[in-house]
Amino acid sequence: MLYFALGQRSSGVEQRFRKPLVDSSNLSAGSVILGDGTRMTGLLFGTAGAPRSTWTPSTVGGIERIVELGLGCMEIEFVRGVKMRETAARLVGEVAVRTGVRLSAHAPYYINLNSQDIEKVRASQGRILQAARIAALCHAESVVFHPAFYMGQPPEAVYETVRQHLDEVLSQLERENIRICIRPEVTGKSSQLGTIEELVNLSAGLKGVSPCIDFSHWHARTGKFNSYPEFEAVLLQLRQRLGDEALENMHIHVSGINYGQKGELNHLNLEESDFKYMELLGVLKDYNVKGMLICESPNLEEDALRLQAVYKGL
Ligand SMILES: [Zn+2]
Repeated sequence: MLYFALGQRSSGVEQRFRKPLVDSSNLSAGSVILGDGTRMTGLLFGTAGAPRSTWTPSTVGGIERIVELGLGCMEIEFVRGVKMRETAARLVGEVAVRTGVRLSAHAPYYINLNSQDIEKVRASQGRILQAARIAALCHAESVVFHPAFYMGQPPEAVYETVRQHLDEVLSQLERENIRICIRPEVTGKSSQLGTIEELVNLSAGLKGVSPCIDFSHWHARTGKFNSYPEFEAVLLQLRQRLGDEALENMHIHVSGINYGQKGELNHLNLEESDFKYMELLGVLKDYNVKGMLICESPNLEEDALRLQAVYKGL
């Protein structure tokens, strides 16, 4: 289900554009320097795109609404294409730094690093790169994307193809001196590359890559992973393969979810779904996981605030 209502339009940006106040190199893993010099640390909660209650439909308006709601982070949705321009992105970066709201970005859906058409692979790489370039100007820390479809091929072969094409993206980012974490996401359908094992392998083998752990997708895909010990097993797998740092700066997606035999069907609000978010939050608290938790429920901030309130009450 597509529910990302708000685009990245921002009127009057040119006139208001100023240089970012703080260089993104000041943003260290798991914390952000606020305008008053204090650091925001721990696990932050936020929305996939601007909250529904945002007054002005723009990324800047979304960030300001995140502050008003008392949330800590937001994912910028480039899911239908990267339409934000550089000047607008710089303004977003300035507002993010001033408010202390941490950002990530979601690259377009139209990505398949396993396409049999090399032109489509190049276009997919281009979409990740463009999302990364603009996200970096926004002071976003991560770019999330769905890597590929299996296209009926053996997963091992697809993995190798995706690894190579992702490596080319990383080389280009390095040439352009863009430092942003590239996060392939746990996908909800069995037709898509994106098991936890595949993402851990990609992350272990490629510098600058870390997984985006979508616990709801994983539950939908497997029909399992919906209890404290199963959520815990995921964290232990990450820690064992990627080191303690993996839990120091996690990027997590959560929503209610509807699923069938082939996995994800559509996102739901938490209260309408069987997803055991209380148990997940318990594990995240017990393991002192830091980073960002992005809520993708259709009601966005309502569930983000619910998750944050439950977490803080633990
Ligand atoms: Zn996604």
